[in-house]
Amino acid sequence: MSNQVVVIGGGVMGSSLAYWLTRLEPSAGVTVVERDPSYQHASSALSAASIRQQFSTPVNVLVSQASIAFLRNAAVELSVDGDEPDIMLREVGYLYLAGAGGAAALREAHAVQRACGADIALLDRADLKRRFGWLNTAGLSLGSLGLSGEGWFDGYALLMAFARKARRQGARYVNAEVCGFAVEGTRVTEVIAADGSRLACTHVVNAAGPWARRIAAMAAVDLPVFARRRTVYVISCPTPMTPFPLLIDPSGFWIRPEGAKFIAGFSPADDLDDQPLEPDYDSFESHLWPALAQRIPAFEEAKLERAWAGYFEMNTVDHNAILGPHPSLENFLFMNGFSGHGMQQAPVVGRAVAELILLGRFETLDLSDLLFTRITENRPLREANVIG
Ligand SMILES: Cc1cc2nc3c(=O)[nH]c(=O)nc-3n(C[C@H](O)[C@H](O)[C@H](O)COP(=O)(O)OP(=O)(O)OC[C@H]3O[C@@H](n4cnc5c(N)ncnc54)[C@H](O)[C@@H]3O)c2cc1C
Repeated sequence: MSNQVVVIGGGVMGSSLAYWLTRLEPSAGVTVVERDPSYQHASSALSAASIRQQFSTPVNVLVSQASIAFLRNAAVELSVDGDEPDIMLREVGYLYLAGAGGAAALREAHAVQRACGADIALLDRADLKRRFGWLNTAGLSLGSLGLSGEGWFDGYALLMAFARKARRQGARYVNAEVCGFAVEGTRVTEVIAADGSRLACTHVVNAAGPWARRIAAMAAVDLPVFARRRTVYVISCPTPMTPFPLLIDPSGFWIRPEGAKFIAGFSPADDLDDQPLEPDYDSFESHLWPALAQRIPAFEEAKLERAWAGYFEMNTVDHNAILGPHPSLENFLFMNGFSGHGMQQAPVVGRAVAELILLGRFETLDLSDLLFTRITENRPLREANVIG
């Protein structure tokens, strides 16, 4: 039987995979099953869509380097009949700030990043003040600034571009909700939808984002990925401040420009699973605003314009992607658990999982460190730089 790949979830991961499968093997049969083509609650539609090189794990730095190369060329790569998508990539950098006790960790991560060839500079307090006059440097010991290869883009535009190109290359998108599998021995033979339809498959891929744990459970696989709500606050501030990279404060918040406004967030202390996707408005006044105004005095005059909430698909074991087959089911592959850095990894992870399916191995970039087996064999690969 020739390849019949069923991809569960048509967000940026599922659509990147569908694009790469049909690009690398035009005869591959690819069906993407998506229950909500409006993507109302999908992380890919609610993302802050930013990309950084500043990770603590080498494999993540290498993924980001390949990803930024793809994003820079996305207009050409994903064009359809000469119509080029505009993903609005802005390479403005990330600025990690360390307080009194944080400099050693920043230097350690910097060594990893430099060894991987990332273009990152360490800045002392005087450098920080010189470059970013709007910043209150009191209490800071060090900063780490991406000089290239970091910034943000339009994540929804990237999702749409992957899906459009995948369709053009022959992928089929089906509007249905997956509710189970037929399994024979160590293989999934059919994907079963709630409307009773059944799709025969040579491979099935879990690309269900924050809902991936439920899909895994349908095949009796325990996937340590949990839906954790994150609120994104849209803030206006009358004082112009340039340049303004994506700033990560030692107190835990992040903020970056979004057009003429800013977006910001933080990770809540009570990080519960599956909370309703209602923004946490109360925490703006009680938590975020005071911290913002302390670090950036101009934000005393800031105004909350609106907010939205989406789910991080949090891998609670080690905060890294979980890729490839589960040892008990040879043709059930996973691309889950990105823990807040999935949008930027989608172009590269899509290709890597496509290679696993088509060739049985990674070819372009070795992502073996991220295979599911590290979880089942209890060899976690902890990512220290998780934002928000
Ligand atoms: C607020 C926020 C900020 C973020 N910021 C960043 C960032 O700055 N940089 C970054 O790299 N990443 C960021 N992320 C993370 C990134 O957006 C995600 O990692 C990425 O979008 C995950 O894509 P996905 O395709 O796996 O999941 P999703 O986009 O959620 O897609 C999964 C799809 O599966 C479908 N589905 C689920 N169950 C079923 C079923 N049973 N049957 C059929 N379909 C099903 C869903 O409808 C959904 O469309 C952020 C996320 C959030 C929420």
